[in-house]
Amino acid sequence: MKKTMEDTDFIIQETEIDHILSKKIASDAAQVRDVLAKARELKGLSLENVAVLAPVSDPDLLSELFAAARYVKETIYGQRLVIFAPLYISNFCKNECTYCAFRVRNPLVQRRALTQAEIAREVQILIEQGHKRILLVAGESYPDEGFPYVLHAIDTIYSVKSKNGEIRRVNVNIAPLTLAEFKELKDAKIGTYQLFQETYHGDTYKKVHLGGKKRDYNWRVTAMDRAMEAGINDVGIGVLFGLFDWRFEILAMMQHIRHLEDRFGVGPHTISVPRLEPATGSDIAAQPPFPVSDLDFRKIVAILRLAVPYTGIIMSTRETPNIRRETFALGVSQISAGSRTNPGGYFEDEEELAGGQFSLGDHRPLDEVIRDVATLGYIPSFCTACYRLGRTGADFMDLAKPGEIKEHCDPNALSTFLEYLMDYATPETGQEGETLIARVLPQMTGKQQKISQKMLDRIRAGKRDVFC
Ligand code: SAM
Ligand code: SF4
Repeated sequence: MKKTMEDTDFIIQETEIDHILSKKIASDAAQVRDVLAKARELKGLSLENVAVLAPVSDPDLLSELFAAARYVKETIYGQRLVIFAPLYISNFCKNECTYCAFRVRNPLVQRRALTQAEIAREVQILIEQGHKRILLVAGESYPDEGFPYVLHAIDTIYSVKSKNGEIRRVNVNIAPLTLAEFKELKDAKIGTYQLFQETYHGDTYKKVHLGGKKRDYNWRVTAMDRAMEAGINDVGIGVLFGLFDWRFEILAMMQHIRHLEDRFGVGPHTISVPRLEPATGSDIAAQPPFPVSDLDFRKIVAILRLAVPYTGIIMSTRETPNIRRETFALGVSQISAGSRTNPGGYFEDEEELAGGQFSLGDHRPLDEVIRDVATLGYIPSFCTACYRLGRTGADFMDLAKPGEIKEHCDPNALSTFLEYLMDYATPETGQEGETLIARVLPQMTGKQQKISQKMLDRIRAGKRDVFC
């Protein structure tokens, strides 16, 4: 029988997941080592492979798992770590997600939708901190003008200039849209469209989404299909860890990826791994029904790195500096920094919990995060070259092959990092950054070093936005 978009069970098949998980409650060491050897070939893993890795608890096998993840991360992504900031434009919402402070029936949150002038003011602050990438975030209810409010906000963000700076890529995390709306979103020149399924487990989904459009599991799980049909090549998926068993969730994520690859020839551009954090007016956020320990969280990142080696993994400021540091080595390729989750939070310069979505684990300003990242030997990157050169979707995945990344991404990371150091860094961070650049350059191959040196010279001579 021909499947239609309403039959979403061809995207997530719970019986297949349950069957695979029931076979794999313990791990056989030889089998685990076979899977790790396969992962080191950088071709990704099957659902069954992922199920072999999930129960690993033996300390030796765990270190082998982490070592394999480190190997894959270093081989594909090198030392780069892409930096972005979220921008919450509105916390009005018609949905009743039990874990979120923005839920419609929460009287404890102060509601606010930023005007375009207020959005511009927030953006100017982010530019002056040194940001080049923004993730626009909103609840599912827009002011009177409706969805065009978001489109205007994107225009506003791109229009703000301050000295040498501007925002060069706007990613978006908003509620699922219709095909026609997704086309408008694409025309607004977004980078990635992000949407988290929260939980792929049908019964749990119903239990935690009590009202509003978001209650419709199928509308949400098919959103990426509509986005990709509309021509948005870069989509980002995610799970809110803590709502249901993480083993189920990562297998379901693999099914979602398999579906997108089958249908569009390319999987998601990024995966986000938010863990449930305390939120004003939410009991479930304070007491997650399936808490994920720090060790399991590291395992999740490592397994995903092995399973989908060319898909970026995003780590937000929900996590503490220590956890973030640990996961950089295991597979994370993008991080947010200096975040606020309350609309207007950058201008007001406070993490006002009354208007914020959840509490943060990392409260450090951007400059401190950059310094820390550089001290650890990672190159903070503000690069936006791929999206601006049209290298999206499958084209990006081709570029992501190890050799190519060395040709493009590392030089672009260094040049955007130097821009940051010259225009925005504190003297202390500037010094740390220059030390890093001096250390990284000689490690590059001859051709790559030449390209990088040329680009760095142009930045030092006052040129900006240099990329290849
Ligand atoms: N309203 C849109 C939606 O729900 O898809 C988009 C933005 S929502 C503000 C962004 C994400 O925040 C949600 O998808 C959810 O995963 C996450 N989130 C909500 N409550 C959270 C909490 N208490 N702790 C951590 N993340 C949370
Ligand atoms: Fe609204 Fe999104 Fe929060 Fe749900 S998670 S209440 S949809 S803002």
